[in-house]
Amino acid sequence: MQNPNPHAVLLASPGMGHFIPALELGKHLATHHGFDVTIFVVAADASITESPLFKPPQTPNLLNLVLLPPVDVSALVNSTASVVTRLVIMMREALPLLQAAISSMKSRPTALIVDMFGTEALAIAEEFDMLKYVFITSTAWFLAVTVHFPYIDEEAEHKHRVMKRPLDVPGCRSIRHEDTLDLFFDQTDRNLFSGFARIGMEISNADGILVNTWQDLEPSTLRALENEKFLGRVVKASVYPVGPLVRPVGQSSKSEVMDWLDMQPMESVIYVSFGSGGTLSAKQTTELAWGLELSQRFVWVVRPPVDGDASANFFNVTNSHDGTPSYLPSGFFTRIRNKGMVVLMWASQTEILAHKSIGGFLSHCGWNSTLESMVNGVPMVVWPLYAEQQMNAAMLAEELKVAVRPKIQPNAGVIEREEIAGMVRRVMELKGNEMRDKVKELQRSAHQALMQGGSSYNSLERVSKDCELNVK
Ligand code: UDP
Repeated sequence: MQNPNPHAVLLASPGMGHFIPALELGKHLATHHGFDVTIFVVAADASITESPLFKPPQTPNLLNLVLLPPVDVSALVNSTASVVTRLVIMMREALPLLQAAISSMKSRPTALIVDMFGTEALAIAEEFDMLKYVFITSTAWFLAVTVHFPYIDEEAEHKHRVMKRPLDVPGCRSIRHEDTLDLFFDQTDRNLFSGFARIGMEISNADGILVNTWQDLEPSTLRALENEKFLGRVVKASVYPVGPLVRPVGQSSKSEVMDWLDMQPMESVIYVSFGSGGTLSAKQTTELAWGLELSQRFVWVVRPPVDGDASANFFNVTNSHDGTPSYLPSGFFTRIRNKGMVVLMWASQTEILAHKSIGGFLSHCGWNSTLESMVNGVPMVVWPLYAEQQMNAAMLAEELKVAVRPKIQPNAGVIEREEIAGMVRRVMELKGNEMRDKVKELQRSAHQALMQGGSSYNSLERVSKDCELNVK
């Protein structure tokens, strides 16, 4: 007997920052909008299966997770290829497996939802007569830049990166050259611009674009995107703001850091983390350690610097009696004993950000981390590293005014300890209340967007209605 529910197949690209929102989208579709969901996960390596997130979902009949075999792209791209190019190649290599999996399903799935690096898979949706959606795990502002990029690139005769002009996208705030995507600064990957332009075109030709944002967060950009004639060029796809889709706080797990947070005053601790893989230089890691030591209470998820002494990459290599790893200042653990906690490599971020003792977040501004900060009403110190994080930082600091930003771009030099301590103080003390009030407003509007009848809930209902019409 045929299943009456629409069946959405999701394709998530490698990296926790892509997998986490895809999983949350799948859960929302399955639990609130009547879908059966199968999520195919393309992984760079097998480590994702070690993550507690990659466990059988609680609604196994409605939501299935399938890990495609990891793809080793080292033989397929040259060593200077950018992350974007690598991701696109990994996704391309996974297509035959996806196609075989869909063709072996008992009934044809209704829709294929791919993230932006998987747009080549939309051809498979056409082959099986499925609806085609793209899921943007970032802002509507980033989407506007991406779908506009082919035209911007053409108008600038492919020289945008050397012209250093601000990026003007209709309906959006102008973007300073230094705040644009990091791909504008990549001088090594010759295929990057054409690959990104192709993605921009393919996204516009989908049936719908789901974005991990919400209506009240980016009203003017969404209006511009929904305008049928976006600067005279038709974006065929409908745009659906469906966020903020973030990992819910799990059952309060017992850990040293949560126990420590329990003992700290309300909103007194800054949480410091650079996402699932962000790292700093050895010099910047040292300077950040001193900066935090000059500041107030903190929890820091620390990673060994990439350019440091290779032997220091092991946590058990210390240069002091108190176990401080050798890439941190000697005696650091002793000096911060009463005011800070250091977590190595990975922490339960959503649990930490939801804790009442957290009053600020020093973040690399990955979009998931940014949303997690907003839904918990936590103001930020922004420290963007790569991808579209400069844009996120600009939006948080200058448009939404819920963050402070360093004077220099983090990648352009070392941010010194006094400035770090000053920024932390501004968020936690001086400007903290003003920013806190603003971010708490965003917290409320995020919550409303997802409630039954809220704007993001309604967006997913519209997707659901379209898919029901396509159930065959
Ligand atoms: N994350 C976490 N613990 C960590 C580091 C990251 O749980 O120690 C999670 C974080 O909550 C977020 C995701 O990993 O959901 C990182 O995504 P984001 O978009 O912020 O940055 P990316 O890792 O993609 O750069």
